[in-house]
Amino acid sequence: MEGKGVPACAKCPVEDKICLVEGGKGPKFCPTENYGKTIERTMREYGKSQVREFARMASIQEAECYIDRHIQPYVLHPVKPRVQEVCEFAKKMGYRKLGVAFCAGLPSEAQTLNRILEAQGFEVVSVVCKVGATPKEKIGIRQEEKIWIGQFESMCSPIVQATILNEEKTDFNILVGLCVGHDSLFFKYSDAFTTVLVTKDRVLGHNPVAALYTSGTYYARMLRPGIDGTDGAG
Ligand code: SF4
Repeated sequence: MEGKGVPACAKCPVEDKICLVEGGKGPKFCPTENYGKTIERTMREYGKSQVREFARMASIQEAECYIDRHIQPYVLHPVKPRVQEVCEFAKKMGYRKLGVAFCAGLPSEAQTLNRILEAQGFEVVSVVCKVGATPKEKIGIRQEEKIWIGQFESMCSPIVQATILNEEKTDFNILVGLCVGHDSLFFKYSDAFTTVLVTKDRVLGHNPVAALYTSGTYYARMLRPGIDGTDGAG
């Protein structure tokens, strides 16, 4: 609301961006230029010791994902897969008990993650999305809105997943493949901070960015109006 124009960093055409380089510039819709008071007010949040420490460790972890930083001029050389990043960050924060909230469609991935986390010395609590075996009818889902029409189908219960992990007092939670929207509910109801290890994409091997990379070719339909690119096609 502050300043002129709706922030649109995703459309920023500036090369020497003010948010990245000293003495840089921003376009008209630049939030760095237009949201000064908001930025100043918000930065006070980092004055809270727990928030500051979390942010500080996340920033240290970010840099440690690159090697040979002493070689100038530096060329980015990342070396750590995200699962390693998660383990290292959790260790930095002194976390001992980790929650894994996973999708029933990724049981072996959850099992492997569990093994990795235990191998790294963490205590692990894991809860599957279908926990509770609550029928989808409970939230008003009709037969034709199910995957398995005409059959019993458990609803995904991210609120239950989060609440069980809250009751287990996990220090930090890790999401593995929760659906769009179910993940949102988990974030909302989890007491502990949460990170995402796996972002579900049923078609692209849990690599949703592939559709963005190929939006100039095989996924060009996503740039047509219509939620699934078939608008007007009946
Ligand atoms: S903050 Fe300003 S300069 Fe940086 S990306 Fe956004 S619009 Fe561009």
